[in-house]
Amino acid sequence: MARIVITGGSFGGLTAAFDLRRHLGKKAEIVLVCDTDKFVFIPSLPWVSMGWRSPGNITLQLDRMLKPKRIKFLHEEAVGVDADASKVITKKQEIPYDYLVIATGPDLVFSAVPGLGEHAGCIFTLEHAVRARIALERFLENPGPVVIGSVQGVSCFGPMYEYACELDTELRKRKMRHKVPITFVTSEPYVGHFGISGLRNSRRIMEDEFAARDIKVIANQAVEEFTAGEVRLKDGTRLEHRLAVFAPPMAGVKAVFHLGNPKGFIPVDDHYRHTRFRNIFSAGVAVAIAPPEQTPVPTGVPKTGSMTEEMAKQAAAAIAGEITGKPVPEAEPVGALCIMDMGNTAALMKARPVLPPRQEAVLRAGVVYKWMKLGFEKYYLWKIRRGLTQLP
Ligand SMILES: Cc1cc2nc3c(=O)[nH]c(=O)nc-3n(C[C@H](O)[C@H](O)[C@H](O)COP(=O)(O)OP(=O)(O)OC[C@H]3O[C@@H](n4cnc5c(N)ncnc54)[C@H](O)[C@@H]3O)c2cc1C
Repeated sequence: MARIVITGGSFGGLTAAFDLRRHLGKKAEIVLVCDTDKFVFIPSLPWVSMGWRSPGNITLQLDRMLKPKRIKFLHEEAVGVDADASKVITKKQEIPYDYLVIATGPDLVFSAVPGLGEHAGCIFTLEHAVRARIALERFLENPGPVVIGSVQGVSCFGPMYEYACELDTELRKRKMRHKVPITFVTSEPYVGHFGISGLRNSRRIMEDEFAARDIKVIANQAVEEFTAGEVRLKDGTRLEHRLAVFAPPMAGVKAVFHLGNPKGFIPVDDHYRHTRFRNIFSAGVAVAIAPPEQTPVPTGVPKTGSMTEEMAKQAAAAIAGEITGKPVPEAEPVGALCIMDMGNTAALMKARPVLPPRQEAVLRAGVVYKWMKLGFEKYYLWKIRRGLTQLP
């Protein structure tokens, strides 16, 4: 019986695991190795940082989801992969595999800018989002200028747009907005670029949105340093802050870094198979995607939840095809479908393929999408708990 090992228990790892079980039935042993025992619905982290959600609302126990599908769960951190010997290495054991799916997401590179993570908060993990909520509560007792944004090299821009608009909404609710000047700083060449060269009229929509909310924008900028009271930009501008929240750049995690490109992201073919190691596949943030253009300040391409799931499904289909001898569906370039929260409203974004030129590009803002975003969180948690992986 083939043994398939999956590292990572989030959007990519779970989708691959459940799809492989569905494709292969009893023909494979499936082992999922994850350094945490919980699935976290990451898209709701900005709401955790606002105090609009608690961690319990958006987490599920991995063993309870995997056991009914006969997927073995190992709550262990992978510390390495010996690709020549086909083994995943943890602190406790070596796990041989016939196929490996790498879905370990990113390492967050706080060392990219001095003071990042220390003087500028983050909302990219559950622990960070909880800390950001505590920092926000403290800030609200003694409000002042806020600087929000994305430093050079960032690829995941959307959450910082969400955070800026959500903070604006929260402050207005509390009748405190007039006490808080908000500046949005980004490495993107313009707001609404999102690391994907924009989406339809995303530039105009985001410029109008920030203007309407009285959020000052500084785009195409790199950050030199964060201090306790200032964000210092490369061009010499100094922005005073009492609260700074920034996205960090990402890299591949240490355990698989040596299998990746210079940033540790895994190079793959159209079926998400490693370009060198034929029994290794990858999905999600762990995968290397070249940017569509070189931006004046470096930026990367975001890998969203829906992109991750599409990658994992294609990788699972390719592995299953190889094991069963059944034909593998033709590779499809992945698309992105997400709803960006804006506090009191939201925007639906759809791109297929993700990078231009595109067959389909949709961007619509409105309160109806806020309701869709709220409903999607509940629906997603309901469906992944049951091992259902169909795409919307
Ligand atoms: C704040 C925020 C908001 C977002 N909002 C949206 C949104 O609204 N819509 C959308 O489509 N996308 C959104 N995204 C993107 C989305 O969260 C990612 O696309 C998705 O999480 C990628 O899934 P993944 O499985 O590749 O990696 P991750 O979700 O990062 O999961 C990686 C998994 O690997 C595990 N792991 C890491 N290292 C090891 C190791 N050494 N050994 C074992 N396990 C390991 C981790 O614990 C985790 O379980 C958002 C991202 C962020 C940060």
